[in-house]
Amino acid sequence: MNFSDSEIVASILDKEGYGATRNYAEADLVLLNTCSIREKAEQTVRKRLTEFKKIKDGKPGMLIGVLGCMAERLKSKFLEEEQLVDIVVGPDAYRSLPVLVEEAETGQKAVNVLLSRDETYADISPVRLDSNGVTAFVSIMRGCNNMCSFCVVPFTRGRERSRDAVSILKECSDLFDNGFREVTLLGQNVDSYYFIDEVKDEIVTFSKLLEKVALISPLLRVRFSTSHPKDITDDVLRSMRKHKNICRYIHLPVQSGSTRILQLMNRTYTREWYKAKVDRIREIVPDCGISSDVIAGFCTETEEDHEHTLEIMRYSGYDMSYMFVYSERPGTLAQRRYADDVPPEIKKRRLTEIVELQNRLSLESNRKDVGKDFEVLIEGDSKRSSQDWMGRTTQNKVVVFPKRESNYHKGDYVMVKIKDCTQATLLGESKD
Ligand code: SF4
Repeated sequence: MNFSDSEIVASILDKEGYGATRNYAEADLVLLNTCSIREKAEQTVRKRLTEFKKIKDGKPGMLIGVLGCMAERLKSKFLEEEQLVDIVVGPDAYRSLPVLVEEAETGQKAVNVLLSRDETYADISPVRLDSNGVTAFVSIMRGCNNMCSFCVVPFTRGRERSRDAVSILKECSDLFDNGFREVTLLGQNVDSYYFIDEVKDEIVTFSKLLEKVALISPLLRVRFSTSHPKDITDDVLRSMRKHKNICRYIHLPVQSGSTRILQLMNRTYTREWYKAKVDRIREIVPDCGISSDVIAGFCTETEEDHEHTLEIMRYSGYDMSYMFVYSERPGTLAQRRYADDVPPEIKKRRLTEIVELQNRLSLESNRKDVGKDFEVLIEGDSKRSSQDWMGRTTQNKVVVFPKRESNYHKGDYVMVKIKDCTQATLLGESKD
């Protein structure tokens, strides 16, 4: 989401005549787009700011701005805590950046952290930063109305709002016309996308939007992230089954496998309900990859709760997970209501068990693919060698295969036979 937002910011500034540089030491304006989801993310931002300070000390005219969730959370307090920051801008106020920069140029500190009920930046065509020219993010909604008790997002990104479907389709079509072959529809909770197209007198739900994007071209792959398990409907699953170019992959964050903890987290589902959702996905889209987010050591978590988490991971057979120890965030429901009472060493040990299990599950899942053929979209050279291509299967698995004499290019679809695998990568050979 932040990556996508940075592209919107680049576009807003581009129109004002600013250009991007890869070397921040030569920049007159440095904007740091920040995340508040865990304390560690915030520590990283503060460390980064001390790096900037060294440059700014020798270059007094340089302006430093902080964008995103941490800006929203700390507001003008940021200016007191980090003296070198000149501009603080929340996620809904990026349009005001040019004015804020002008203000900061006069030596004043500039702040805009107003949250909006309708800002979606629908009309802004993002400047693609660091693009591979094949895959792109397209923001379809902003904010979140769920109040998961551990999460700071509803406070930093505000109420949920969906972007105009017409502008989403235009952005996706333009990307396809410019050679892109995969779009990822982005939002905090994409499945609750809901837009009324008054011109056509049509309600566009997420499953409808998916189909509309899929119909742009069978050569355009469509992904989406993130789904809240409670909102992913059979309609969405049926749309996936109906269109081959809607990728067989769902990120379905479980967070915990214990019903008691899920209730404290305010996730609104039980362990049985979640398992039934996994069953439903496997029934309607049998070849679907599933990944998850898992939190170790949430408030009051017992060994039994932790065992339930391990069990639901095994049951779901995740291909991949993002796994973290619980990090208490100021202002959240959990911080106000529950004690962060699981000792750090226990949190850490549980996380290790979760990570080890996920590693085994990922390897098992990859081993099952050895001997099979997959259509792979080439994204570029493999990280390790320019002699190999790197691409992905529809299930979002990374595939590496030798280029040899074949005449493929980035953005081509290639059939690849999988010969071997590691826990993170499928290794194959193109079938020609
Ligand atoms: S669904 Fe829950 S975890 Fe996800 S952004 Fe919304 S509040 Fe946070």
